[in-house]
Amino acid sequence: MVTNPDKSRLQARFYYGFLNPHEQTRIREALFETVTQRKDLNIEFAIVLPDGRERIVHVQAEVIYDEQSNKPSKLIGTLQDITDRKLAHEFLEKSERQYRFLSEGIMHQVWTARPDGKLDYVNNRTLEYFGLTFEQMINDGWQSVVHPDDLADCVKRWTKSLETGEYYEVEFRLKKADGSYRWHSGGATAGRDSEGKIVKWFGTNTDINDKKLAEEELNLSEDRFQQLQKMEAIGTLTGGVAHDFNNLLTAILGNTQLAQRRLAPDDPVQLRLTEVADAGNRAAELTRKLLAFSRRQHLERRTVNLNNIIGEIMTLLERIIGEDVELSVKYGSDLPTVFADPGQIGQVVMNLAANARDAMPSGGKLTIETCCVELDESYCRKYPYVTPGRYVQIRVSDSGIGMNEEIQTHIFEPYFTTKEVGKGTGLGLSMAYGIIRQHEGHINLYSELGLGTTFKVYLPVAKKIAEENVLPTLLSFLGGTETILVAEDEEPLRNLAKDTLEELGYTVLLAKNGKEAVEIFGANRERIDLFLSDVVMPQMGGSEAFERIREMGGNIPLIFMTGYSSETVQSRFVEPKKTAEELGAMVIQKPYSLEQLGRAVREVLDKNHKP
Ligand code: ADP
Ligand code: MG
Repeated sequence: MVTNPDKSRLQARFYYGFLNPHEQTRIREALFETVTQRKDLNIEFAIVLPDGRERIVHVQAEVIYDEQSNKPSKLIGTLQDITDRKLAHEFLEKSERQYRFLSEGIMHQVWTARPDGKLDYVNNRTLEYFGLTFEQMINDGWQSVVHPDDLADCVKRWTKSLETGEYYEVEFRLKKADGSYRWHSGGATAGRDSEGKIVKWFGTNTDINDKKLAEEELNLSEDRFQQLQKMEAIGTLTGGVAHDFNNLLTAILGNTQLAQRRLAPDDPVQLRLTEVADAGNRAAELTRKLLAFSRRQHLERRTVNLNNIIGEIMTLLERIIGEDVELSVKYGSDLPTVFADPGQIGQVVMNLAANARDAMPSGGKLTIETCCVELDESYCRKYPYVTPGRYVQIRVSDSGIGMNEEIQTHIFEPYFTTKEVGKGTGLGLSMAYGIIRQHEGHINLYSELGLGTTFKVYLPVAKKIAEENVLPTLLSFLGGTETILVAEDEEPLRNLAKDTLEELGYTVLLAKNGKEAVEIFGANRERIDLFLSDVVMPQMGGSEAFERIREMGGNIPLIFMTGYSSETVQSRFVEPKKTAEELGAMVIQKPYSLEQLGRAVREVLDKNHKP
């Protein structure tokens, strides 16, 4: 076999002797065919070199025919050693097959790109996710499917990787075929040849949406938790101040009232004292709001239907919102009852309505709706203090100015207001917050600037149907002649109680604490008709003293005077004490007026006198 002038090709004269014995027959047949059928020879086969190494060669040749005899005279062609190319190709085919197998079977999006960054392969999962054809994907590239907010960052990193060849890693949202976005973690490494030149980029995108959302939720609930702790701290401070203030106000108001009763009605000092009483009452109102926020207010809870509470305040509501606002109320049907203080819940709704009105200065729509909802575990995870279960929901929506997020994080804080001086006190929502939390409920909101706000209040569905409590009837006759044992550690308040009750005709025995009260009772048991006591006192508190009195056989009723709600007092002081409810005691909230005290005392005494 003769030669080709191209030096790059192997020039050889070969004999059958070089051929791998297995190949000889095949080559003979091929040669035969070439000659008889007058076609070119084109064949690959193995040869064995003299040193024993086997190589694969490609032979391409044509038969030259003798011009006269027209018989084949020689074969001219090339023989090329293709062993290396062949091996490389086989290797590539194999690895390509493995790669495809892997990339199509895998749960991730897989892609490859040319050194310049242009996509040249994506697996089917990628195409399915984006709902694109391979051509669309290759031509439009990936930039059209990255969330606009994440794109700039992505491009920056990818460009940097293309320049430096370093690993590419990014978290971004990718647009699904249905238009929604899911978070992915994308990464790519450069594939290099033996000289270190980048020949390809291999990349994957992994769906991390669920993980990402869980993280966000956690961050959010951590934020909420911190917010909650802040509210608790403010609540403790406010509650403490309000409590002490109430004691002072009780003394101020009580003594003013007593003084006024002693003076002649036309005494010029009356006017001064009325001013004192007015200011005192305003202070008491303020303290009441702060107590409500700090969840230390005494609640008169009963089993009620929220629809009734809203029904009862309708007239008031209409007056609050004025004529420019259209009010629509949708009462949920078959609403379960809640265990709540109707006056306080009514107050919450009125505060929300007042805010809605302020948010709609040129009119709008206010909707109040009630319904029953189930708060599940996943909802409750977001709010550290909410427990799963059934709740009655009051939804108060307005079409007003709405709030931005910054404002939303502060609205429940006392004294936070965006209203001008004299218009807002910043206490409306703090009260609402405290009242609802004291009811083991929950309040949250959704607001959009310029569109409006929806507040949602949740109150737990009442566990058992308690019998309707009878509201105290208003007695016109306040006084009496019975003997009352009073325990109060603060001297001005002790004296005030004495003077007030004596003013009403009662006889009063005074004790500085629970221990003294028990002693006095022991010495005067026949005479004493009622125990009127502060809750928290040094040495012995009110409820313990009352239990001792009971143990001594004393069958007298109990009235607690408190600056706190009795429940809160229980949880704040660790001594084993019973609640007012457990003791069957009535509670009156400081500061009390002469009328309030007189009415409470009369009611309890009358009830006890009946067989
Ligand atoms: P005040 O009404 O005295 O300002 P609140 O505690 O009732 O105090 O409300 C606090 C703040 O919350 C308001 O000043 C206002 O910025 C915002 N706010 C409350 N309710 C709404 C509402 N429905 N729409 C828009 N902003 C509201
Ligand atoms: Mg308000």
